[in-house]
Amino acid sequence: MSDLFDLAIVGAGPAGLAALIAAAEASDGRARMAIIDSRPQPGGQYYLQPPPDFQPPARESFLHHRAEAQAWFARASACDADWLLDTDVWGITRLDDAGWQLHLRGRDALRCLSARGVILAVGAYDRPIPFPGWTLPGVMTAGAAQNLLKSQGLLPGRSIVVSGSGPLALAVAANMAEAGARVAAFLHAAPRLIRRSLRHLPALWGQWARLREGHHYWRVLRRARVPIRLGWAAAAAHGEGELRAVRAVRLGPDWRPLPGAQNTETFEADALIVGYGFTPAVQLSRLAGCRHVFDPRSGNDAPAREADMASSQPGLWIAGDGAGIGGAALAQIEGQIAGIAAMRDVGYAQRERAEAQIGRLRGALRREQRFAALLAALFTPGPAFYTLAQDDTLMCRCENVPRSALVAAAQDGAQTINEVKGLTRAGMGLCQGRMCAEAVAQVMRAARQSGYSPPPAALDPDLSPAATPRAPLWPLTLDELRRPVETVEPGRR
Ligand SMILES: Cc1cc2nc3c(=O)[nH]c(=O)nc-3n(C[C@H](O)[C@H](O)[C@H](O)COP(=O)(O)OP(=O)(O)OC[C@H]3O[C@@H](n4cnc5c(N)ncnc54)[C@H](O)[C@@H]3O)c2cc1C
Repeated sequence: MSDLFDLAIVGAGPAGLAALIAAAEASDGRARMAIIDSRPQPGGQYYLQPPPDFQPPARESFLHHRAEAQAWFARASACDADWLLDTDVWGITRLDDAGWQLHLRGRDALRCLSARGVILAVGAYDRPIPFPGWTLPGVMTAGAAQNLLKSQGLLPGRSIVVSGSGPLALAVAANMAEAGARVAAFLHAAPRLIRRSLRHLPALWGQWARLREGHHYWRVLRRARVPIRLGWAAAAAHGEGELRAVRAVRLGPDWRPLPGAQNTETFEADALIVGYGFTPAVQLSRLAGCRHVFDPRSGNDAPAREADMASSQPGLWIAGDGAGIGGAALAQIEGQIAGIAAMRDVGYAQRERAEAQIGRLRGALRREQRFAALLAALFTPGPAFYTLAQDDTLMCRCENVPRSALVAAAQDGAQTINEVKGLTRAGMGLCQGRMCAEAVAQVMRAARQSGYSPPPAALDPDLSPAATPRAPLWPLTLDELRRPVETVEPGRR
């Protein structure tokens, strides 16, 4: 069939770019490939670029690891592939014979594209954890604040509190200070961090560049005399229509907010940045019918994969943060493996040679996987942290659903996220549960186990934090739907 691509890659971040380059090399440039991304430029979250027509004073300084990023862009653009940027994949369906159809929304039309193999390299998004005041203007996630700074050179406020756990929270706090903001406080939530890190020392061995980067950020905060509180977190945001102050609390060893005035401090601020890790974007892999497993260490639902990144569905591979949070280096290795495996299975790469190439990547893969496991063990918020939300705290901000409504649904017998969704509309709004599903799952777990007193000590693996996704994954207008759908064919764009 002439209109069939050999391979379509969804996502042009580190994983997608690496997959494209590896597949082009493995097939000696013979495979007909397409790479698709919602953003107008490649790079994903790690190599996020300012928009093409935006010229900040020192444009190039906005790019993270500039020389490395430009080398990846140059290698990827030398590959023979159709680039569909500014294009969302809003659905995926299996073709009767073999392969997949992707449903696309470009800038001016709906399109579809069919391919024998698909690599999903769709990344992750911030994991929001609701607390009183989190919907107040001025409160945003670490990813949102980083995007403002990286893509537009904008600061979210003048006096900023950063509260989070993990490397991104530290990086964002330092980036804000370096960009000229007053960081009113840096609250690092993970309790007993130093003691627990000692247990994981072997996984840190060899991660010198990352440790240097972390040390640099730490020194930036010390030099700027930022008040640093380890084992503390933002518990409430206060203000009328805009943020004025942040109430911080000290956390117990299981992340439970501790009572008492000695465990509370208030900081004046006009912006609060919160970042407690990431959630893999599993909507497309779930829509495609892939099997998913819940990982209690990271608190995330992720697609089950073989060692060559193959999902449980034939002709579908998944690489990068969309399959479990691991960082850019792991995403690149997984992307390479998926690209080679896809070319092996669609018949462009000789099997033994492909296996040998994949085998050579295994050592680096294991090292990065160990590091990812360390980050999950140290920084994933415990279930007790979700008790920051009060009865009237909105859990689903798209549909205005407070925690009390979720508890009532659980008391009425709702057992799954989908049942809660049906009863309360939580997860039915614009974000389709990306912002609230995990918090809803935590409320359900707590309600199941004890009705909130005390909250559960361990996650219940039976309760997936993802509701069933439905196409379209992004809202489409009626005007778009009434127009004819174009078919994208290889080399004809
Ligand atoms: C908010 C955030 C901030 C981060 N900050 C840092 C940092 O400061 N330092 C650091 O070392 N690491 C950081 N990371 C981690 C690092 O960016 C990731 O580990 C890395 O980018 C993973 O690469 P990836 O290719 O798997 O995903 P990504 O880089 O996220 O790329 C995924 C791409 O897929 C596209 N996509 C997703 N869904 C669709 C769809 N349906 N249709 C079309 N396109 C789609 C996205 O537009 C995106 O370009 C951050 C991650 C996130 C989520």
